[in-house]
Formats: sequence, C-alpha cells, structure tokens
Amino acid sequence: MPTAIVTGAARGIGAAVAARFVAEGHAVALLDLDAEALAATAKGLAADGGSVLAIPTDVSDEAAVTAAVERTAAELGAPTILVNNAGYARDAGIGDMTTEDWDEVFGVHMRAAFFTTRLVQRYMVEAGWGRVVNISSISALGHAGRVNYSAAKAGIIGFTKALANELGPKGVTANAVAPGFIVSAMTAKSARRLGRDFEEHQRIAAESIAVRRVGEPEDIANAVAFFAGPDAGFVTGQVLYVSGNASPTT
Ligand code: NAD
Repeated sequence: MPTAIVTGAARGIGAAVAARFVAEGHAVALLDLDAEALAATAKGLAADGGSVLAIPTDVSDEAAVTAAVERTAAELGAPTILVNNAGYARDAGIGDMTTEDWDEVFGVHMRAAFFTTRLVQRYMVEAGWGRVVNISSISALGHAGRVNYSAAKAGIIGFTKALANELGPKGVTANAVAPGFIVSAMTAKSARRLGRDFEEHQRIAAESIAVRRVGEPEDIANAVAFFAGPDAGFVTGQVLYVSGNASPTT
C-alpha cells in the first residue's frame, strides 16, 4: 500500500484522515506543530496496529518540511499520497486585520502546500503514481471577516488545478476537498470568539446547512479517501464541497 503524509494530523480533520488511511493499511507519516497532541494521536493509531510515524513539524518552515519528507521516505518508504491539511484562521474585519494575520494564514496554507508538494511530487513522478489532496474550505467562495483565509483557501484551489494539469501526464492526480462547518478545535475557537457555547454554536450553524447538521472530521476523511483511493484515477483538478450545502457568507 502507498505511504501517505498527512499534515496537521494531531487532531481534527487531519487525525481522522490519518486514522482512515491506517484502517486501509497505509503507512502514514503524521506531521503537526503540536508535538504533544501528535504523539498521543500517533500512539493511538499504532495501538490499532498502524504503521505510523509522528514528526513534529511546522509546515510553513521549508527546512522542517524537507527534513520531515526525507525522514518519511527513509523510514516508511517513498510517499505517494499527500494530504495538505494543516491550517488555521486569523479572523478580523479587513480594517483590523494585521499584516501578520495575512502572512501567517498564507504561510500555513499556501507556502506549506507548496513546500510539501514540491518535495513529495518527486517521489510520485518517480513511481508514476501519486495522489495529492488539498484541504480548501467553503470560505474560498468568500467569507465575511476572513479575507486572508478566504483568499488562501481559494489559492489552494488554483494551486490544485494547476498541479492536476502539470502532473496528470506523470500519473499524479490532484484534487481539493472544501469542508463546511466541521466539529473541531477550529470551530470551537470560532464559538469562543463569538461568545457562544460550542453546542449552541453548532445548533445555530446547522440551521443554515441544507442537511441540518454540522459535519464531523470523518465526513471529510471519507472524501479524502475517495480522491486518494483506487476509484478516483480518472478524477483530477476537482473541488468537492463537503458542507451539507452550507453558505459560507456569515
Ligand atoms: P484543527 O485545529 O482541529 O486541526 C488543525 C491542525 O493543524 C492542528 O493539529 C494544528 O496543530 C495543526 N497546525 C496548525 N498550524 C500548523 C503548522 N504551521 N504546521 C503543522 N501543523 C499545524 O482544525 P481542523 O478543523 O481539523 O482543520 C483542518 C483543515 O481543515 C484546515 O486546513 C482548515 O482550514 C480546514 N477547514 C476546517 C473547517 C472546519 O469547520 N473545521 C472548515 C473548512 C476547512
């Protein structure tokens, strides 16, 4: 089974994707900034019989990413599945948004995806097979109070589509999953920012979602597993909105 790298895998969506890959029999390198949470997640997956490697990494740091990818190849074999998932928001109205808010969000989403993909695609091209799955967001469609995050997540879509065209002839597909509201530390933080209890925040969010529920990390892992799996060989350059058909505007 191909070796996978999942960024931001200590918790939330990344942890669910890593768990799904382990269940499917992939060796998985988990990269995350939070070393403690990463170790706990990796320990749980190893206890389930997974071949996993936890590598504390700041994915916006080029040298750290290089070391992590090389270590993955040396210890788990050439990585040919890459999920660019690590990320966070720094929300503010445009008048109050700092240059740091802008740069940090572009660093963790755009720079990081560029660094990891530039390195990992070499192994994919050599193997004549590869799967890149980038985590975008419904915010790519335009989310008030989030111009930095919306722009970075839209940028991820352009990056994905260019990659699909460039690497398609080499046997590598690239697709994006754009989640809506997913229960995670990220949405819990948004609730705190709005002064809402997290349960109440989810209930309010569900009212503007067509299927009348918020998503779970596993909803996203299902879509990632499809793009990374054997049934998606003729699917590339696509964006799958996994949002219950939510509107991103509020
Ligand atoms: P989360 O906060 O639970 O997990 C994000 C993980 O990324 C954390 O473990 C964090 O430590 C890690 N991370 C952050 N910065 C990093 C860095 N520089 N280097 C390495 N790791 C880093 O959030 P989540 O909801 O699981 O989000 C995962 C992805 O999904 C993000 O890209 C996010 O933008 C996207 N997303 C989330 C939602 C949602 O509603 N939760 C919606 C749309 C898109």
